[in-house]
Amino acid sequence: PTPMEVSMQNPQEDAGIPDQNGGVTVDSAPSPILPQDKVLVSVEVSLKPSSTARANDVQSAVERMLEKRSLSYSDGPVPVPLDDRFLTENVQSICICDTDEWVQNHEILLFWQVKPVVHVFQLSEEGACEDISGDGQPSTFNEWILPAKEFDGMWESLIYESGLKQRLLRYAASALLFTEKGVNPFLVSWNRIVLLHGPPGTGKTSLCKALAQKLSIRFNSRYPQCQLIEVNAHSLFSKWFSESGKLVAKLFSKIQEMVEEENNLVFVLIDFLQFRITFYLSLIHSDQIIHSSVVNALLTQLDKLKSAPNVIILTTSNITAAIDIAFVDRADIKAYVGPPTLQARYEILRSCLHELIRTGILSHLEDCESMLPNFASLKEKLNIPEVQDAQTPLHLCKQLFETAEACEGLSGRSLRKLPFLAHAALANPYGCDPSKFLSTMTDTARRERSEL
Ligand code: ADP
Repeated sequence: PTPMEVSMQNPQEDAGIPDQNGGVTVDSAPSPILPQDKVLVSVEVSLKPSSTARANDVQSAVERMLEKRSLSYSDGPVPVPLDDRFLTENVQSICICDTDEWVQNHEILLFWQVKPVVHVFQLSEEGACEDISGDGQPSTFNEWILPAKEFDGMWESLIYESGLKQRLLRYAASALLFTEKGVNPFLVSWNRIVLLHGPPGTGKTSLCKALAQKLSIRFNSRYPQCQLIEVNAHSLFSKWFSESGKLVAKLFSKIQEMVEEENNLVFVLIDFLQFRITFYLSLIHSDQIIHSSVVNALLTQLDKLKSAPNVIILTTSNITAAIDIAFVDRADIKAYVGPPTLQARYEILRSCLHELIRTGILSHLEDCESMLPNFASLKEKLNIPEVQDAQTPLHLCKQLFETAEACEGLSGRSLRKLPFLAHAALANPYGCDPSKFLSTMTDTARRERSEL
């Protein structure tokens, strides 16, 4: 639609949108008084590792740039304008986020409907550091300074339907905002424990890490420092099992120290499936009582920790055993993460193909976007009377659709490995034609499924 049509459509509805759909961003900054008809859209600006520019200066420069740009908004990168020296010197990338839901419902989001909320950040390149206690014990956790280079792009690479990622982001953002504003927990109750549950390989752990990364970027004006602690459940039940209670206490006193610094935002990630497996395995070797005390110690510590305003506890599980019930009860934000649907499988494989084309492993496609359209446009295309010729663009996306169908039952993790397995099965692995590659991938998928 033209801009005029959009504005004429339903001014009433538009006025309420920032809250309903446009809750796309919940910023920690005091909420600005917004013109009622604007949608908040996050714009994430990554600084170059070498940049020493002040975040505020970059933010203003990007805001000015966006004002001049006068285009429509959709998720994805915005080129850094070459004629802006300050930005080209300091900025690595600019990315528009969270417009997907809006665009799906309303088709288009024009610049004058948008209030961009610019978040400037610099990725930490430090990598994971282990807890080195020096006394020969295995480390009880890994720590990352967020936002970390390792997790860059992870959020975008995870594909789910039905707005799961947005919902999680909004829940967590609301929880932080309630804390920030000092909402009395006796009057309104909420907590900051997230539980993702579902079968293995559906991206739960990755989603937790990616969520922590996102929140560290979105809340960096309130919390300039941010860490992710991944608890190493195996280490809590080591062969020094009699020390286990002490290990849990030590781990949490370290976390408590981080939390005491009020400008720190701390994410604690615990994989309860790993925890439970280790728990049962260690039972074989020793005494139930000792091990139950480890579980209790962990629960007590989690309870203590959850009262801190600047901590978010992220947990993953497949909830099949009673031991999890205690954990599950504690979580406010629970989400089931299931195996990828047909649409998600299509999109995951499509992103794999794009990557192989980008890197030259598959031969270049003249017009990649129309040859491999996204799922929504594919459905429209498939309604066009079929053209069987293998050379037509339609053939390729149809083939991809068939591969996605053949992958029913495979987890996201297996899907992301499939192109690699298919490539290894090719007779001629150099500059392969995408169509041939897709049929090898379908065969590989069938083989993988038969081995399930
Ligand atoms: P889980 O914790 O559920 O066992 P992981 O987070 O270890 O799963 O997932 C492993 C990998 O599988 C991820 O890093 C990602 O590459 C891939 N993956 C799983 N689910 C998806 C998905 N829905 N979309 C994209 N990639 C996925």
